[in-house]
Amino acid sequence: MLQNVKVVLVGTSHPGNIGSAARAMKVMGLKQLVLVDPQCEIDDQTMALAAGADDVVNNAQIFSSMQEAVADCALVVGSSARSRTLNWPMLEPRECGVKFVQEGTSTPVALVFGRERTGLTNEELQLCQYHVAIPANPEYSSLNLAMAVQTLCYEVRMAFLESDKAQYPESEPVEYSRHNELEMFYQHLENVLVDTQFIEKDKPNQVMSKLRRLFSRARPEAQEINILRGVLTAVQKEISHKK
Ligand code: SAH
Repeated sequence: MLQNVKVVLVGTSHPGNIGSAARAMKVMGLKQLVLVDPQCEIDDQTMALAAGADDVVNNAQIFSSMQEAVADCALVVGSSARSRTLNWPMLEPRECGVKFVQEGTSTPVALVFGRERTGLTNEELQLCQYHVAIPANPEYSSLNLAMAVQTLCYEVRMAFLESDKAQYPESEPVEYSRHNELEMFYQHLENVLVDTQFIEKDKPNQVMSKLRRLFSRARPEAQEINILRGVLTAVQKEISHKK
């Protein structure tokens, strides 16, 4: 699914930002970088900031317009710090991640980022079905391009991991003892406590009810109850030898 997510950078002018964005993508498992009308060359600074993500940079597709870049995408989301002015359908970053995971399983989807100084034009923003704004400090809301890429790719990854987890339950369901099996265990325990003279037979005291409360709280699994029954049996054997 993550391979269906295109990160589209429109009109990027700083070569370092392309490298940093590639790195931000790769750490989150995304690989498809698309550059629209880049205003700089891919240079040493790009590669230095890409660190190990030079494959993402080298495989980047380049288009001259945003339309061409997102032509095959079923979902296009534009990121902007100031989208609310257009009154467009908005997604929270978290919702955006979930939407990408839902729709990106079968078709390519695009997350679009604007120019460092001026962002996306209104025309470009209107090519998107949704806008996403990272709810930053309202008095200083514009993130560095690559950091915005990082934040939104992180949300895609979180949503992806969440959906993956739901598909594969983490562990086998736990098996608990039946009521009558638990009662047999309590009876066994009581017998051993009487045999060892820890408690006196038929003399009501609090010990058994406190022990019941302890085991209710711990909620031992069926296998653990079997182990405890084995311990009790071993104690009984030892006592009968001594008698
Ligand atoms: N002054 C520009 C800021 C551009 S920052 C403007 O007003 O739009 C470069 C890109 O980073 C933006 O186009 C957007 O894609 C992304 N970005 C920066 N801050 C963001 C935020 N708070 N929410 C969503 N995207 C953001």
